[in-house]
Amino acid sequence: MTASTPQLDTSPKPAEAATTVVQSPTSTSRYSKHIVLTTYPGQSGIDPVPLEWGAPDAKSRGPVIVSRSPNLLKRRNAMGAHGGSYSIYNALAIAAGDLDPDFRPDLRNSEPTFKFPPQPAWGDKTKIVSMDPYGHDVVNQYRDELEAGWDIRPTMAVTRANMKLAEIGEAVREGKLDVDGSIVMDSGGEVRVTKVAVEPVWYLPGVAERFGVDEGTLRRTLFEHTGGSYPELITRPDLKVFLPPIGGLTVYIFGPPERVSDENVRLALRIHDECNGSDVFQSDICTCRPYLAFGIAEAIREAQNGGSGVVIYFRKEGRALGEVIKYLVYNARKRGGDTADKYFTRTENIAGVRDMRFQALMPDILHWLGIKKIDRMLSMSNMKHDAIVDSGIKILERVPIPEDMIPNDSRVEIDAKINAGYFTTGKQYTMEELAAVKGRGWEKWEDVTH
Ligand SMILES: [Zn+2]
Repeated sequence: MTASTPQLDTSPKPAEAATTVVQSPTSTSRYSKHIVLTTYPGQSGIDPVPLEWGAPDAKSRGPVIVSRSPNLLKRRNAMGAHGGSYSIYNALAIAAGDLDPDFRPDLRNSEPTFKFPPQPAWGDKTKIVSMDPYGHDVVNQYRDELEAGWDIRPTMAVTRANMKLAEIGEAVREGKLDVDGSIVMDSGGEVRVTKVAVEPVWYLPGVAERFGVDEGTLRRTLFEHTGGSYPELITRPDLKVFLPPIGGLTVYIFGPPERVSDENVRLALRIHDECNGSDVFQSDICTCRPYLAFGIAEAIREAQNGGSGVVIYFRKEGRALGEVIKYLVYNARKRGGDTADKYFTRTENIAGVRDMRFQALMPDILHWLGIKKIDRMLSMSNMKHDAIVDSGIKILERVPIPEDMIPNDSRVEIDAKINAGYFTTGKQYTMEELAAVKGRGWEKWEDVTH
C-alpha cells in the first residue's frame, strides 16, 4: 500500500506473532502483559509505512511514524521517539498517569506563520539528513492519514514573536541601530522575529556518510552507548530513520523571511551553539553571549538595509559535552593555572576530546532554508566555516567578534581558539605567547566571600 491510501489496522494481531516478547515484571493496567522488546523485518504483520527519504515531495516521501501504540507498532517506519530529549518527560507524564498513552494532539491553528517555499534540498537525501524537511507541514501534507487516525507529529514549528535584548536596546540608545518600525519597533530595543524550532530526525545512511563511517558501525555505537535503549537499531536494518533523544535547534529570522532564500539580497548569519552560563546568565569566562548579541545586532542591521539576518541557535551546551563536564574543566583550568596554551588540553583530559559538536550535520538547516551563499558569516569557527563551505554554500566574508566586546577573563578561550585555527583579522598567537594569556583565577572571588 502507499501512504496516500491510509488504512489503519484496528485489530492488532497478537504481538507474539512477530516480535521478541517478555513477561512484564510488574502488573500495570496501562499496557498488555507482554512487552515487545524489539521487532524484526519480514516477521508476520511487520509492514512499515513506506518512507523514501529524499523523494521529491512529502506525499511520495511518506510520513514519519514512530508510535509504538498497538495498532502502529508493526507499521512504524522510524525508531526513537518524538520530542528529542523531552521524550523522557513525555514517558514520565504517562508513567505518572497525567498523560494518556494514546493521546493524540489537536493540531488545529498550529500551522506555520510563514509558508517557507519548498527547496530542491528538501528532496535531496544528501543535503538534508538530520531533520524532516516536511516536519513543519504534516497537517497539510498528511491530512488524510491524520484523519484516518495515524499518529503523525510535527517535528518543526514556525512562529513569530517580539524579543527584547539589553544589548540591542543599548545599541539603539547609542545610535548604532535605528528604530525602523518593522524590525526594531521602539527605542527600548523591541525586535520582531520569525522563529523556527526543529527537532532532530536522522536518516541514518546519510548521517553515517557525513561522519565517514558505515551505517552498521553508526547503528551499533548508538545502540551500545544509549544503554541498549533502541534495539531496533540492530534488528531492523530496514528502518532507516531514527529520532534521537537530543536537543534540536531554533532559527531566528530578522526581516521578511521570504528574503532568506533570495540570492539577490545580502545575508548575515550567525550559527551559535548553546552556552547557558553565558547566553542567559552572562558569566564572563567565554565570549558566547557577547558574540550572540553582536550576531543579532548585525543580523538586524543587514535586514534593515534590505537584506536578511539569521541567527541559528543549536542546543549543544558546552561544546555538546554538557554543563557537568564544562564545570569540571573550569575547575581544572582555574586550579591548574588557567593559561591559553593549556585551554584545549584541560578539556581533553576530562572529556577525551576537545569538542563534540561535530558540525557535519549543522548545514542541513541552511539548505532547508534555501541559503546558497552567506555574505557575512558572524562566526570565527573554522569547523562551522568548513562544514558550510564543504556542503556547497559560499561564505563571502567572515566577521570576528569586535575586540572591545571580549570580556577580560575570556581571552584564554578566544586566544586558544584563534591559535587552533579560528578565523581572525587580528593577532594570531604562538604557543609561547599563549602561555602568557592568563585567566583571572578564583582569588578575587574567594576574597569577596570572606
Ligand atoms: Zn560560552
